[in-house]
Amino acid sequence: MYPASFEYHKPPSLERALDLLTSLGSGAKCIAGGHSLVPAMKLRLIQPDHLIDLSLVESLKGIRRESEEIVIGAMTTHWHVESSPIVRSMLPSLAIAASLIADPQVRNRGTIGGSLANADPAADYPANVLALGATMICKSATETRAVAAEDWFKSLLTTTLRSNEILAEVRIPLLAARCGAAYIKVPHPASRFAVVGVAAVVTLDQAERCAGIRIGITGIGEKAQRGYLAEVALRGSSLQRREVLDASLAMSDAFDLDEDVLLDVQDKRYLCSLTMARAIHEATVAARKHAI
Ligand SMILES: Cc1cc2nc3c(=O)[nH]c(=O)nc-3n(C[C@H](O)[C@H](O)[C@H](O)COP(=O)(O)OP(=O)(O)OC[C@H]3O[C@@H](n4cnc5c(N)ncnc54)[C@H](O)[C@@H]3O)c2cc1C
Repeated sequence: MYPASFEYHKPPSLERALDLLTSLGSGAKCIAGGHSLVPAMKLRLIQPDHLIDLSLVESLKGIRRESEEIVIGAMTTHWHVESSPIVRSMLPSLAIAASLIADPQVRNRGTIGGSLANADPAADYPANVLALGATMICKSATETRAVAAEDWFKSLLTTTLRSNEILAEVRIPLLAARCGAAYIKVPHPASRFAVVGVAAVVTLDQAERCAGIRIGITGIGEKAQRGYLAEVALRGSSLQRREVLDASLAMSDAFDLDEDVLLDVQDKRYLCSLTMARAIHEATVAARKHAI
């Protein structure tokens, strides 16, 4: 199906894009890689009157280190995240997550900002930004707003981004010493979206017990979420396999899951708990190696 007709704008700067967004009002939508928006427009699920193409806005692209944070511009493609030497060395689990998205065609067009603004419940970045404690920086013509990842995802395909705002960048704190991160994904065999994806960040104390843990889960509800129950159960523990598995099973039992075309609810719970246990285990191994 063809999309409904719309007017196309290609501003050269963020300021111009924000002016357009303000003056055109709620009938306007930004387009980044178009890999989620265009299919939705073709199905007429979304019918914007105006499309604001962000591809010329250089200030929204690129990856840099700023003090104790990695800053990723919203228009940075999945491929750039996956192949960035900064991300690979300092946030390796995020580089792995990006490399697991779809196929090279999608990774060369799709952007981190587009994925986070779209908030697909089976997308890969949401679990990772939750576990890594990222902050989204949103800009309007008059204001800059920082939103913690916990507060970003509201419901199915819905975030706290306002209609007059552009997601400008994602700020991710560097992993401290004795801190390790991992992302484990079970991909859907056709779309490659996550059937279940779990990101875990583990911090160990001097005695190699769990001083802190953050878990982000994708694929198990209308939005990505934190694994709070498992985090509480594991904090202070020695992260032995049995403890990790028990906490992951209890966490998965607590999710309100729907049957889907691939798995019934019990199988999905089981898959979720095993994926979570594996992510926590790999993050723990990474934390032991990062004991500087
Ligand atoms: C075949 C296929 C397989 C895929 N598999 C996976 C997968 O395995 N894992 C995964 O995570 N994703 C997957 N995706 C989704 C892909 O990662 C998309 O790139 C991503 O969801 C959207 O990014 P985009 O840059 O294409 O955004 P667009 O489609 O251009 O935009 C998506 C939404 O975000 C808004 N938007 C975009 N950028 C901004 C911004 N800077 N500020 C404000 N609003 C903005 C748009 O208005 C729109 O509402 C797949 C997509 C396809 C087509």
